Amino acid sequence: MKTVMRWISFILFVISAVAPGQRKTENVFLITVDGLRWNEVFAGADRRLMSKDWGGVKDSVVLSAKFWRDSEKDRRLALMPFLWTTLVHEGVVYGNRTIGSKASVANAIHISYPGYAEILTGRAQPEIASNEKKQIPATTILEFLKNELHLGDKQVAAFTSWDLYPYAVSRVPGAIYCNAGYASVVDGELTARQSFLNVLQDEVPQAWRTVRFDAFTFYHGMEFIKKHKPKVFYFAFGETDDWSHDRRYDHVLEAAFRVDKYLKELWEFAASDPQYAGKTTFILSSDHGRGSSATKDWADHGAEIAGSDEIWMAVFGPDTPKEGEAANMPQAYAMNIAATMAKLLGQDFRKSEPECGAPLPKALY
Ligand SMILES: [Zn+2]
Repeated sequence: MKTVMRWISFILFVISAVAPGQRKTENVFLITVDGLRWNEVFAGADRRLMSKDWGGVKDSVVLSAKFWRDSEKDRRLALMPFLWTTLVHEGVVYGNRTIGSKASVANAIHISYPGYAEILTGRAQPEIASNEKKQIPATTILEFLKNELHLGDKQVAAFTSWDLYPYAVSRVPGAIYCNAGYASVVDGELTARQSFLNVLQDEVPQAWRTVRFDAFTFYHGMEFIKKHKPKVFYFAFGETDDWSHDRRYDHVLEAAFRVDKYLKELWEFAASDPQYAGKTTFILSSDHGRGSSATKDWADHGAEIAGSDEIWMAVFGPDTPKEGEAANMPQAYAMNIAATMAKLLGQDFRKSEPECGAPLPKALY
């Protein structure tokens, strides 16, 4: 009798592990961090760049106190404490090349819009070969999920630091709610916080005309999430890339540290809310890598700069094996993200977009 019971519980376990109907994910948050190198994610601050000469650092004593530690493990913990104490135990982190996990973009351009086009459409888009504002030429995963799941206009949304995104989030212009760059949030009757953030983002000094500070993207996005409870939500942070181009490594590290804080706040909100608790998967990625030489090309990226195709990604949630930091993993690509998002929500993106990448290896049970 005992043996029979064991078999029954084993069979039930197998069914619950493989049946797509048993998936727990009902909401997906996609979060991208522009051009944040995998080197910093996995090994923390780069000593070579913590100086005035190479990293443009204003106060290396203060920066070192905050982010320099003797071991790589301690350094990454100082830079992204929530990722490495909590999130890592909730899924899988791809891209640490030193232990055999390669994550890359499949496109040949290695700049931002081609990277986001690959993430959002599940394949490289040769027509998107620059950062020119041009409508994306294929159906995005955001549009696909909105249509297939019959979601309302505010159940799928994107809040982004870069102002190009309205062109990237949907093939059909305006099909996906998108607040990007310094655009004011337009959202019916605004909450007090939405009104205040609209005023504030116009009145602080701007570092870049086309990319707002991530704090505005995040707090505007959080307010929208609390107000509308979207099922598919995209946060695209941008400061890590722009501070790198500006050769301000101190600001790059601070921006990565803030993104980690935002991940914590979003994760903890999701865990406290009945719609999201235990039913939400987070997918993280960067859109390209950057160079590794300290003197010159750490600040830049592109087809001509080695390392610019190298990215990192992560999936955390109830349907993802608790692999932690991936080691000896098959090659993963940014183009695998769209099909992963679809599968988590019980859909098959490849049915409508047959050329798109398969789901990420080991992202789902
Ligand atoms: Zn970029």
